[in-house]
Amino acid sequence: MAATKRHFDVIVVGVGGMGSATVYHLAQRGARVLGLEQFGIPHELGSSHGHTRIIRQAYYEHPSYVPLLLRAYELWQELETAADEQLLFITGILNIGASGTFNFEGAWRSAQDHDLPHEVLSADEVNRRYPACRLPEEMRALYEPLGGFLPPERCVVAHVEQAIAAGAEVHGHEAVTDWQPDGGGVRVTTTRDTYLADRLVLTAGAWVGRMLADLRLPLRVERQVLGWFQPQEPELFQVGRLPVIGLVGDEGYAYCTPVYGVPGFKIGKYHHRSEVVDPNTVNRTFDAEDEELLRAFLRRYFPLADGPTMQLKVCMFTNTPDEHFILDRHPEWSQVYLASACSGHGFKMTSVVGEVMADLALDGETKHAIDLFRLARFAGATTAPATASTR
Ligand SMILES: Cc1cc2nc3c(=O)[nH]c(=O)nc-3n(C[C@H](O)[C@H](O)[C@H](O)COP(=O)(O)OP(=O)(O)OC[C@H]3O[C@@H](n4cnc5c(N)ncnc54)[C@H](O)[C@@H]3O)c2cc1C
Repeated sequence: MAATKRHFDVIVVGVGGMGSATVYHLAQRGARVLGLEQFGIPHELGSSHGHTRIIRQAYYEHPSYVPLLLRAYELWQELETAADEQLLFITGILNIGASGTFNFEGAWRSAQDHDLPHEVLSADEVNRRYPACRLPEEMRALYEPLGGFLPPERCVVAHVEQAIAAGAEVHGHEAVTDWQPDGGGVRVTTTRDTYLADRLVLTAGAWVGRMLADLRLPLRVERQVLGWFQPQEPELFQVGRLPVIGLVGDEGYAYCTPVYGVPGFKIGKYHHRSEVVDPNTVNRTFDAEDEELLRAFLRRYFPLADGPTMQLKVCMFTNTPDEHFILDRHPEWSQVYLASACSGHGFKMTSVVGEVMADLALDGETKHAIDLFRLARFAGATTAPATASTR
């Protein structure tokens, strides 16, 4: 196909979680925007699939996420209204662990600092209230009534549909093969065409490191496995009967959601086997160890869910050394921005990240506090660390 060199205000590379929200916010503001996605929209080969993503406010990762999260909730509700579809399922969340575990203590601190509604429950209280759970006595839970989940594929579709309705152009199955600064703008080459733009936003998820090879970002792409298992008493595992759950035990850190989209209780283990992978060659098949890592949690804490396997999926985390995101301008090219490396906890915030990136691309600044996510924190740390942390 002949190169057309059409000109846009902004080109967004990667139309997954972050990219779909960015395209949406840019289009809402009247920018001429092009979103380019190498696979279909949505797809199951990146980091935004698997039917559910947990959303919560009492953030143990760092209290400074909370203002962004509050805005993310508002934006998800706005998107639901625009799309006329439920996207935010409020089920409550149980942050479970023994005394001193990071998820319980951090969520408790965040709830105190930001005056968020919460309850502290003993193991016995959890087990009585939610008979799907069999927590040992030493555990306790911080229950957050405003926790819940989002269906990521539907959220991507809703953002893209609303972006197109507002005038955006979005192309699936068109991979960006090169980008180059061109005067004050950029020239973007794809498998189908060449385009020009004033600004470029890179939201390429697990592929962002290779798009910015010169920066030698200290990123680690990790293979994750999600499992859905058929429960014996399914009524105990339904939305409305069981909240979403984050549980830290001797086995590691598990995240779980009630039955939604697949006839099974969903469970994943943070960092799974700590396998560092290439996103183009990641192993998308499963072995007994993959399943056993998940079943170890089921046997001990949710024994009624230790039933037949319903579904398994592979997904990827893109981790920074401190597990905070990257939202920033390119250090060399001021017309280029990136939003990525969500370190396994970014989907819930894609709605507000879209707003941040539209601010940066159109105005060069944002009113949101994003200092935690700046590239400068990696100065001198450009090689990937060898081991994964515990969450
Ligand atoms: C198993 C698992 C569980 C998770 N659980 C949670 C959770 O409960 N709550 C939560 O908030 N977060 C969670 N996360 C994290 C969250 O899902 C991710 O952080 C988020 O979805 C990442 O979005 P992204 O836009 O960066 O990546 P993606 O959605 O993967 O998007 C990147 C896109 O860029 C495209 N792309 C790359 N290169 C090119 C190119 N050259 N040309 C065109 N397109 C390109 C890719 O194909 C892809 O579509 C989880 C992640 C995983 C893997």
